Amino acid sequence: MKALIIVDMLDDFVTGSLANPRAQRIVEPLQRLLAHAREEGWVVVFSNDAHQADDPELKVWGEHAMKGTPGAQVIKELEPKPGEREIISDKRGYGAFDFTGLDEQLKALGVDEVVITGQHTHICVRHSSYGALIRGYEITIPRDAVCAFEGVDEDQALEYLEGTYAARITTVDELVGAPVAA
Ligand code: ZN
Repeated sequence: MKALIIVDMLDDFVTGSLANPRAQRIVEPLQRLLAHAREEGWVVVFSNDAHQADDPELKVWGEHAMKGTPGAQVIKELEPKPGEREIISDKRGYGAFDFTGLDEQLKALGVDEVVITGQHTHICVRHSSYGALIRGYEITIPRDAVCAFEGVDEDQALEYLEGTYAARITTVDELVGAPVAA
């Protein structure tokens, strides 16, 4: 069973306090992948920063995606439909699996493969991939549904995920089974 994990596609990370111009270009592929995941009955996880004032990470980035604020909401283009198989998972650090209970939730649903998407390839996607590796999940990362900051080499970030966590690097088209353009 697969789970699609969408990391930090929140207002603050797209247009707000930590806005990333690169995030715009992954929205459309993510919409297609999310629709596919729902159709196929994958588990869907929105792994979202929901910070509190004493979170250590704020030393690095300042306040962002503070729990309960508009900046901590998933962008409207990817609106969650919470339910038994669609989980909103708050996090207070980089990794989707760190102190979140997500591992237990996914295992209870029979998930053994995670498709990790969102932001940022070299930070939260990376830490979430490590969390997935050590908990025994197969990892797939569609390169057009993740992004790093401007100035960060995407290929290098993806190579790290492949080389260090055995992540399978693919594309949204391949995952949704889109016909290859002639
Ligand atoms: Zn954060």
